[in-house]
Amino acid sequence: MAVPKRKTSPSRAGMRRSHQALATEAHTECSNCGELKRPHHVCSHCGHYDGREVVAAGKALKSAVRV
Ligand SMILES: [Zn+2]
Repeated sequence: MAVPKRKTSPSRAGMRRSHQALATEAHTECSNCGELKRPHHVCSHCGHYDGREVVAAGKALKSAVRV
């Protein structure tokens, strides 16, 4: 089994992990209800997309729309 010759220094580990930051999710305001929603996706709050209701809002909306 290959074994590292040297211990990874805290500096090296930090350099490697400098790329691991989490990016913030993209979001826009729904033009119908004003809730935050993902761009180019049906609003998970009111079921509207592009100015019209695509999915009926209510109990079934949660299973029909992936957030
Ligand atoms: Zn909405």
